[in-house]
Amino acid sequence: MPQSTRKKHIVCKNCKTRFTGDYCPYCGAENGVNHVRRGAGGFFGGLFRFALSLAALALLIAVGFVILDYVASAGGDGTSAARAILDSARNAIPQSALDTYAAFKARYLDGWVAAVVDFFTVLFS
Ligand SMILES: [Zn+2]
Repeated sequence: MPQSTRKKHIVCKNCKTRFTGDYCPYCGAENGVNHVRRGAGGFFGGLFRFALSLAALALLIAVGFVILDYVASAGGDGTSAARAILDSARNAIPQSALDTYAAFKARYLDGWVAAVVDFFTVLFS
């Protein structure tokens, strides 16, 4: 049966490369089917993703700052490095933002952190 062993040539719809097998060796398209990404949203989609990644980065920095703040305020000799980093960070942050953070911390964070600390104290005692 020579017909069955003959490989079928496919012309890639993406890059017009002739090939046999499942994937185009030149552009990697499956069965030569065009796999151009759709729904990327164009310019505004890209702008949105960029803003989203910026927001994620800002959140990450904020969380790091809060952790550092609690480590520094926990006291002890081992926290002098955290305190030094915190002091330099505070110099870079506007006073209004620090005031907002202090109010937020007194209203929500202290309660949450106390609850988390209680939870781990119970867990490891
Ligand atoms: Zn191709």
